[in-house]
Amino acid sequence: MTVSVLTIIIAVLALAAGLFLLRAVPGVRALFRWRGERIVTCPETKQPAAVNVAAGEAALGVFFNEPTLRLKECSRWPERAGCGQDCLEQIEGNAQNCLVWNMVSKWYEGKSCVFCHKPIPPLHHVDHAPALLSSDFRTMEWKNVPPHKLPEIFSTCQPVCWSCHIAESFRRDHPELVTDRAPEPRRSM
Ligand SMILES: [Zn+2]
Repeated sequence: MTVSVLTIIIAVLALAAGLFLLRAVPGVRALFRWRGERIVTCPETKQPAAVNVAAGEAALGVFFNEPTLRLKECSRWPERAGCGQDCLEQIEGNAQNCLVWNMVSKWYEGKSCVFCHKPIPPLHHVDHAPALLSSDFRTMEWKNVPPHKLPEIFSTCQPVCWSCHIAESFRRDHPELVTDRAPEPRRSM
């Protein structure tokens, strides 16, 4: 009798764990799908805006079978915090392509450094970030550009590898310590 009660308890616990996993797996998938900063075209201004989806809430929504998708942050907030969040349509239809990381990766893909002409390696979270040469011939890391400015920056800047960016920054900040000539960037603009 004791054994059969134990068996029932184990069966109930296994069933509960199974049901939990059944809900948890799509929830975790939703968390990974919706996290990360994204660039959208603001339906109000028709200008780029950087937004973050409330990914944790979206994951819980999937877990409790009440899907919900809303923004957690927008570069136009707090001024426009009460907006209708109509840009969510763009995100739902293009979840991966509008991720800042994916947009930046795609922009650098196949490009070479404008100074040393070496190919820019694929973007990695742990590697040094590649940089950009602006139209006033100053280098900067893409990570230091406000995300909603990236589409504009990418149309006017040229790619620079991290090493050349460091060398150029040093030349700019300590011209008295540099005697050699920097390689000339290709002026393709
Ligand atoms: Zn370089």
